[in-house]
Amino acid sequence: MDEKVLVTNIQRMCFHDGPGIRTTVFFKGCNLSCPWCANPENISVVPQEYYFNGKKGVYGTYYGANDLLKEILKDKSFYGNDGGVTFSGGEPLLQLTKIENVLQELNDREINICVETALQVPYKSWKKIENYIDVYIIDIKLLVEEQCAEILGGNINCYLENMDIIHKTNKQIIFRIPLNYEYTLAETNLTRIESFLDKYSDVPVEIFKTHTLGANKYESLGLHVPKLKVVSDEVVDNIAERFRRKSDNVIINQM
Ligand code: SF4
Repeated sequence: MDEKVLVTNIQRMCFHDGPGIRTTVFFKGCNLSCPWCANPENISVVPQEYYFNGKKGVYGTYYGANDLLKEILKDKSFYGNDGGVTFSGGEPLLQLTKIENVLQELNDREINICVETALQVPYKSWKKIENYIDVYIIDIKLLVEEQCAEILGGNINCYLENMDIIHKTNKQIIFRIPLNYEYTLAETNLTRIESFLDKYSDVPVEIFKTHTLGANKYESLGLHVPKLKVVSDEVVDNIAERFRRKSDNVIINQM
């Protein structure tokens, strides 16, 4: 049976979602609830009606494997040697196992596959697609166990186990760290992140400020817009310097 996946957007010509020029597929459905999430339309696992500025619509379209593959292959000529497809979300590891045949086709065509993940999905549930993935973009959010559970609804042990498994595979990994005063920049969390980076000092790190660009999407769903103070450039620079003492390659991503 052709299983379908739920997608909110397929964005073409992306430069910030992994190496080279990429097509980014945003899956709808996430098992976390980050208070700073910029894509609230990607959290619920079902299609959702929205209403904004007099316009109505639905977040989420079901794609069968063949249709999704066709959409991705439209951009093949732009990928070059480095580029390819990035599966983002939401949490792509919740749905990618349904389209193993798409991953196989992409592998056969030597199209690079990147997965942007919060990595809090038990390994046994996505193990079968691990071999197809070339690059992981992995979030580092809240590493204190209680905060991870209470604020994100996550499981830090699941995250750490997945991280160990992936690191041993020698696949390309990029860490991404969202910065906000209210959550991730808490000193206890920063100290945990430093120890974590010490362990994986060979993995490049991108840091970025969480932003308010998702406000319209929250409003369109009738949700309360999170009010987070935007982090200053000076603080971002200081954090970059601090992490550079632990990691070989830290950059500030202006996304
Ligand atoms: S993991 Fe990503 S998509 Fe899920 S809630 Fe957090 S920021 Fe949003």
